[in-house]
Amino acid sequence: MVQQASRLFPTYARFPITLVRGEGSRLWDDQGKEYIDLMSGLAVANLGHVPAPVKEKLVAQLDQLWHVSNLFHIPNQEKLAKLLTDNSCADAVFFCSTGAEANEAAIKLARRYAQKVLGEDRHEIITFHQSFHGRTLATLTATGQEKVQEGFHPLPAGFSYATFNDIESVKNLINDRTCAVMIEMVQAEGGVITADPAFIQQLAELCKEKNLLLIVDEIQTGMGRTGKLFAYEHYGIEPDIFTMAKGLGSGFPIGAMLGKAKLAPAFSAGSHGSTFGGTPIAMAAAIATVEYMLSDKIADRASELGEWTLNLLNEKLGTNPLVEQIRSKGLLIGIVCKQPVAEIISEIHAAGVLVVSAGPQVIRLLPSLTISKEDLQQGLDVVCDILASKAAALVQ
Ligand SMILES: *Cc1c(COP(=O)(O)O)cnc(C)c1O
Repeated sequence: MVQQASRLFPTYARFPITLVRGEGSRLWDDQGKEYIDLMSGLAVANLGHVPAPVKEKLVAQLDQLWHVSNLFHIPNQEKLAKLLTDNSCADAVFFCSTGAEANEAAIKLARRYAQKVLGEDRHEIITFHQSFHGRTLATLTATGQEKVQEGFHPLPAGFSYATFNDIESVKNLINDRTCAVMIEMVQAEGGVITADPAFIQQLAELCKEKNLLLIVDEIQTGMGRTGKLFAYEHYGIEPDIFTMAKGLGSGFPIGAMLGKAKLAPAFSAGSHGSTFGGTPIAMAAAIATVEYMLSDKIADRASELGEWTLNLLNEKLGTNPLVEQIRSKGLLIGIVCKQPVAEIISEIHAAGVLVVSAGPQVIRLLPSLTISKEDLQQGLDVVCDILASKAAALVQ
């Protein structure tokens, strides 16, 4: 055994902070330092940390049953599937444990449907430059970023990349092997880039006209984050398939792939599965999460708070020479800077506020959707003050 500092594979560039406790929008580290959380564990803790209604159901389930396998009926899978389909354009659900796994299910369903219904050669999926769809071999290939693919060749065949918000670039890639287009309504990891309404409407029409499935990745944008339960609702379109994960279990791992009724027969018993998909514990966490979101109109709250935040940031950062632009959809917010932001983010953390980047020059804010206005204001003030002092230092 070689002597080494860590026994973990070095896959993460970690912040020098060890968090040990959370409550709502506050976190505490192992030194007792308190933080205002404006990143929600990367859009997972959308209801804040340890939300009471979810904890209650989760603890009750822990006392009752953890795992039985999908060889048995799990009634809460039907209950959660009903909740999700009653509140979306989808008719059927497949449960898994992560976002990448949900996108894998979407890719497999799209291929199987197309090959059964449209012809054996139909397997290619068009995705977009700067997208992010996950880290498995298929989903990192779907991801239009070379840095995610570097060193992992040969990549699975059947993916091509169009330019986001450019309908002609999609048209140019369509051929008689194309089966689907996969897209995020807001490219979150790619720098918080929102899709143009006209582009998405044209894309939906193009997919109908060419018999292509439209797959929307709602893994980061779903669960109220953008001010609607799902971001596609902003665009007046209905995807054939959409995927979710991050916020669905409030921190308990769960992913889901949802689709239209016509797609359901493309999967048959044995064609897809996942040991941990839809366990009783995951179902308890997600049912409690969705019921809380619906009963407390959390998406509406995200919309209102998002607008308030955008106004505040525009007011305070509008004349800051370091800031190029504020991009946002609900409470998915990007402060686009004219320089790399890693050092600025470290200073914000040191000042007791947790934020994250989205690419090298964007500070990303993902506050919980239940954060109090006071906490949000306090956190935003710290971010804006640090950007102001950085700008002042630049001028001198
Ligand atoms: C996080 C994310 C994924 C991957 O989810 P994992 O749970 O990490 O596999 C896929 N797509 C989008 C848009 C994401 O934000």
